[in-house]
Amino acid sequence: MAWTLSGVGIGDGLAMGKAWVLASARLDLPRRRLEADQVEPELKRFREAVRIVNKELSGLKEAMGQEPSAEVSALLELQAIILRDPLLVAATEQRIQHDRCNAEWGLLQQLEAVSAQFDEIEDPYLRERKADVQQIVDRILRAMQGEAGLDEVVRKNNDDDGGWILVAKDISPSDMLILRRHRFLGFVTETGSATSHTAILARSLGLPAVVGVSGLLNQIAQNDIIVLKSKEGSVLGALNAEDQSVYKGQQAVYADDLRALDDFKQLASCSLDGVSVLLMANIDLPNDVQIALDRGCDGIGLFRSEFLFMNRSSLPGEEEQFQAYSAVVKAMAGRPVTIRTLDAGADKEVSALSFGHDKPANPALASRAIRYSLQSPDLFLSQLRAMLRASAFGQVKILIPMVSGPSEMISAREMVQQAMTNLRAKGLAFNPKISVGAMIEVPSAAIAIDGLIAHMDFASIGTNDLIQYTLAIDRTDRSVAHLYNPLHPAILRLIDQTIRGCNRANLPVSLCGEMAGDTDLTRLLLGLGLREFSMHATEILKVKRVVRDSSVASLSRGVGRLLKLPDAALVKSGLNAINAKALRPD
Ligand code: PEP
Ligand code: MG
Repeated sequence: MAWTLSGVGIGDGLAMGKAWVLASARLDLPRRRLEADQVEPELKRFREAVRIVNKELSGLKEAMGQEPSAEVSALLELQAIILRDPLLVAATEQRIQHDRCNAEWGLLQQLEAVSAQFDEIEDPYLRERKADVQQIVDRILRAMQGEAGLDEVVRKNNDDDGGWILVAKDISPSDMLILRRHRFLGFVTETGSATSHTAILARSLGLPAVVGVSGLLNQIAQNDIIVLKSKEGSVLGALNAEDQSVYKGQQAVYADDLRALDDFKQLASCSLDGVSVLLMANIDLPNDVQIALDRGCDGIGLFRSEFLFMNRSSLPGEEEQFQAYSAVVKAMAGRPVTIRTLDAGADKEVSALSFGHDKPANPALASRAIRYSLQSPDLFLSQLRAMLRASAFGQVKILIPMVSGPSEMISAREMVQQAMTNLRAKGLAFNPKISVGAMIEVPSAAIAIDGLIAHMDFASIGTNDLIQYTLAIDRTDRSVAHLYNPLHPAILRLIDQTIRGCNRANLPVSLCGEMAGDTDLTRLLLGLGLREFSMHATEILKVKRVVRDSSVASLSRGVGRLLKLPDAALVKSGLNAINAKALRPD
């Protein structure tokens, strides 16, 4: 019997393929024999994982506050005892040392041995403690799941004939960096929302994805043939042969449409009434520049530098960052490159950073982005020096994330000056007139944009966070994903106000949130006066097609009317009418 599940669709595409279910940590672990010289590093890796779990457990205990319930307290105590038990840790180390098993394999063997002993116990309460041992083992395994682990699992599956759709409970942004190196037709996850960073990365691959699908893992088994319809946000399964051939046909139509877009590469990004629009690319890593250039971008509008900091145990230093930034600047050959300073925190986890406390109650509102950078001056200065040095090779702009008001921009600019002084002392070249801009993604910054004008050289509207903070919806929380709405009048008015404020002061303003690449919203943004869009490279040509098919003067009038509407549903139907009219031949 065919079934359909719903979630939040990412991108506009259709994929049919075999489900590859990203299994829980214990099933897909690498098992291999170590060479003699690999034993010591493996022991170190294992001990580091045990140390992390130890810290996690004490963190959990502290998080319980003064009076943890007796039950929870006993459970945490028991898990801490298990973690110290030589039967688990020392015996695993023995297996690594003497049997030359890799750490995961050694630990799993030990788990089996310990579980067998538990099975012999008569007392049912004690017998059930086996589950605690398993939980601790899972924690250690997770702590050991570095890049190599996941990479290996994925490669094993991708050695197959391709045609896979990745199905998972969740894919963290750092895991996505690994997964993007492999071939998939699309992604589906149980968690996530339209602007969760996982979704953003899926979009950057130009692949259809559906996130926030309840009941996904209960419904889909490994190798099931499934269909993703990302525009509608649906996942379909148990299809008969007839349905499968219909979807195959539709998949071919999407592929043809994608190919037809190539014709737009050589055409100018200019409206019917002659207004030029800059189409910039968002990138996460230097390698993304290739596709951005291929799609004819006018520059890099957002380089999310935090991705250089993920999936590693030590932070990239000034030199390494300089290499990465200057590689992008050189590849862009004179086109602007806007590099955002570290925007770590919340769901963009950088494990090598210490955030000073284990887990804030509200990560999105905690010390992250510019707040964190200002609290870590050495780290911030080394990043600024790397960006400044890259500015000797082209047009670099520095973008400060999560600015809430002038004081952060003033402090950030002081740090830029300090970084310049450091470089002068060393005789290193940089552009002393470098532009420093602010992300407008916290409502206070948009509302009080006039106060920021004097402290920034340009602005970039980050609608993903602007929507999260204005509508009070956690972008990572599936249960509120349906409330995400870029057409909410409050959002439109904040964007309008920001663009007007910047225009009045003659400051360049762009928009780099997911709205910029959504072709249903292109005419809305053009009508609001936006002339610089920054998006995933895979979306540039689609947006260009719409720009070339729009008359900006008439859009300004139409969109002016939408701004006065009292609710999102009315804005939506008004915008639908504008889009439909633009498509009608005169
Ligand atoms: C945004 O918030 O809109 C944005 C572009 O930044 P990020 O998605 O990385 O938070
Ligand atoms: Mg943001």
